[in-house]
Amino acid sequence: MKKVKIATDWLGGCAGCHMSFLDIDERVVKLMDAVEFTSSPLTDLKHPPEDGVTVGILEGAICNSHNVEVAKRMRERCQILIAVGDCATFGGVPAMRNLVGTEAALKRAYLETESVVEGIIPDSPELGKPLETVTGVDKVVKVDLFIPGCPPRADAFFYALSELLAGRTPVVLPPELFTYD
Ligand code: SF4
Repeated sequence: MKKVKIATDWLGGCAGCHMSFLDIDERVVKLMDAVEFTSSPLTDLKHPPEDGVTVGILEGAICNSHNVEVAKRMRERCQILIAVGDCATFGGVPAMRNLVGTEAALKRAYLETESVVEGIIPDSPELGKPLETVTGVDKVVKVDLFIPGCPPRADAFFYALSELLAGRTPVVLPPELFTYD
């Protein structure tokens, strides 16, 4: 049987959504008969998704120029794109900086508060240029399904993947699978 390829990747967030995904626990064994993770919660930092992926799962908000590149790359390479977590849905926790502005938030974090890089606002190109406004993923690319929550429940991940494997693309989650934080 040809396996469905699934890839995950990270934007601005805390990795809690990936951890919740892993809480699928033994049900992942059932999934493994039908899916192949080309990049997974444990490997995606080292292995960006390849072309021809069926389902892409993106965690985190669009916070900087690097996040924009990653989101566009996932959209190009995946037939179905799922945004998971409140951060990917509407900006979530990282979007709190919108209340004060990026420059003020960076100054507060690195210049006015004790930090490991005391007195310097990091500006390595590898980090990406901070955007003035933090947003959800759909402000940059088309999203096919949102799984909100902080983090979403493992049951919500399992439901979405089970539906996709059955050839159905859910538009919204059943109400009992929503997480309200
Ligand atoms: S939605 Fe919550 S758990 Fe997921 S990345 Fe954002 S802060 Fe972390």
